[in-house]
Amino acid sequence: MRRLVLCSALFCTGLVALSVASNEPAARGAVPRSGVAINDLDRSVRPQDDFYQFAVGGWIKRVKGPAYMPGWSAGRELQLNVYEALDKDVRDLMKGGRATGNEHKLADIYASYIHVEQIDRLGLTPIAPYLATFDAAKSPADIADAIAMLSAQGLDLGIGTWVHPDDEDPSRYLADFVQSDLGLSERDYYLSDEPRFATIRDAYRGHVTRVLSLSGVADADTLARKVIALETRLAKAQWTPVATRVPGATAHRVSRKALAEAVPGLDMARFAQGIGIPATAEHFNISQPDYFATYGKLLAEVPAPVWRAYLRVRLIDHLARFLPQPYRDEADRFFSGTLYGATASRPRWLRAMGVLEDSMGDALGQLYVQKHVPPEAQARARVVLDNVIASFRQRIAASDWLSDTSKQGALAKLDQLVIRMGAPGHIRDYGRLVTAPDDAVGNWMRARTLLARFEIEKLSRPVDREEWTMSPQSVNGYYSVSRNQVVLPAALLQAPYFQADADDAVNYGGLGFFIAHELSHAFDRAGSQYDGEGKRVEWMTPADRAEFERRAHAIVVQFDDYAVSPGHHLNGELTIGENIADTSGLAIAYDAYQRSLQGHHAPVIEGFTGDQRFYLGFARTWASEPIVTQAAITHALADTHAPDRFRVTGAVSNQDAFHRAYRVKEGDGEFRAPDKRARIW
Ligand SMILES: [Zn+2]
Repeated sequence: MRRLVLCSALFCTGLVALSVASNEPAARGAVPRSGVAINDLDRSVRPQDDFYQFAVGGWIKRVKGPAYMPGWSAGRELQLNVYEALDKDVRDLMKGGRATGNEHKLADIYASYIHVEQIDRLGLTPIAPYLATFDAAKSPADIADAIAMLSAQGLDLGIGTWVHPDDEDPSRYLADFVQSDLGLSERDYYLSDEPRFATIRDAYRGHVTRVLSLSGVADADTLARKVIALETRLAKAQWTPVATRVPGATAHRVSRKALAEAVPGLDMARFAQGIGIPATAEHFNISQPDYFATYGKLLAEVPAPVWRAYLRVRLIDHLARFLPQPYRDEADRFFSGTLYGATASRPRWLRAMGVLEDSMGDALGQLYVQKHVPPEAQARARVVLDNVIASFRQRIAASDWLSDTSKQGALAKLDQLVIRMGAPGHIRDYGRLVTAPDDAVGNWMRARTLLARFEIEKLSRPVDREEWTMSPQSVNGYYSVSRNQVVLPAALLQAPYFQADADDAVNYGGLGFFIAHELSHAFDRAGSQYDGEGKRVEWMTPADRAEFERRAHAIVVQFDDYAVSPGHHLNGELTIGENIADTSGLAIAYDAYQRSLQGHHAPVIEGFTGDQRFYLGFARTWASEPIVTQAAITHALADTHAPDRFRVTGAVSNQDAFHRAYRVKEGDGEFRAPDKRARIW
């Protein structure tokens, strides 16, 4: 099979702990390239005063992202490059018509999507069967059936089904019913008193009215108000992101026998059947029981015509990009423009890449890895990974606040961590997917149905800890607490994260940090409440847990103090998991860099010491345009990640080594008193 295996048996456990391969750059004796993007620096500020500005101020001034992509950043820049390359590859597949298998299907989906004349010609015909089903729904049970039918095809209307390893017994999967997005993604959009949200609500009402009216519904304005009132009542009953993230808070197991009666007004057994859960499945959970109870109540209370309008609006919004121009324009105006602040439309080819990503992401990944990830980069990145793991192990072992009992628990968890880099060993089997070059809606719905099936079918199989939930072409990575698994996609193996031909300091600051960040999630506030199998269990002593919380709280306070704009402070509680992973990840990546030097002194290159380049490499991966618009501020405040500028300053100011590397002194902007520097791992 074509694949990039950076993982093999080597990565599975502590086997790699002591392997330290040579990191010497290719040109032995010659001064290596530093890999520091000199043009991206801003030398008008001192690194000691504003390290972020020093490290990426030149980039911010020089680089302008496309108007269709607000919030331009180094990561987005790289992701766009990846998609540009893939776009060319897929267009090549379409030439000559010789592609077979998955490649043929990718070409079909792409072709159907870019043929807008065909899409315009078809009108609403492709969704007519759905609209007919909605129109025939009269009773609450009919409405619930329609909601289940859409969910089985990948469109959730406030109720999602998440199949994941059961944290009470991680050897088996659990069917977890969870609250999911309403028409607007955050509940604050419906509930907040802030004027900005009120403005969005007004715009949303206009949008819903136009969607209903475009699709031929009479009295669209009145219905739109009722639809939004329905969503607002659901939003009120939804849990906040912070409440949902508390480990164990969403654990509400329900047996198969009790499922039908578990939610008054909503037969969850029938819903489960509707989305295709096999009768043999026995393990269920309802994450937010009071929210589901409200859902059931509203099914009975809210008249069917309002629910029917809601189904219609959500389906049309979901499919707008595959529908005729007036629908595409309307969705663009509201979602891209009003909600996300874009001042131009995304080009069709880029949207096509999004469609392929969300339809056959694994197949697109095979194409990517095959063509764009050189084996040399993989081999060198593997050394970085090995050194990060070894350093993490060393750090746990040498911790000055953990008891031996807790150290053993942490090391056992680290040993069991499944760490994969590059591409998955096996990909999803798209054999059942039927595609056609002239059926954009059909291709999408069939592909999304198959993806939903893949999820449900897991319930009949043992847990697969090798499964990836992110594609190799994603400039991203994740830690899965239930699989105790870290995934680092192949797209990270390029600048600015990784430069195979440069001196290693920047690579440890970039890729090394990224890896260490993901590993640290296994030991962040939530992650540390699960063991190496993904079971929710306490492995710290009570005294160590209290000390962990005390240290975590210092980071909460540190980030509460940062303001995106006057009066808009970050939410330290919401971002705590990421901030722990940043502060710890940076410390561990630094250790890994030192380890890679094997006792040698790093050369000074282009005026920077090795340690200085390490921190520059780190900051460069977080280059992003300043947050200025209200839309950007709103998003920044709702994100579990702090804005990039604060991730950098927050993490570096907690490091003793950073203070040493740049001789940061009291009175400097980045100075943090030694007793205020947070350190967990
Ligand atoms: Zn993270």
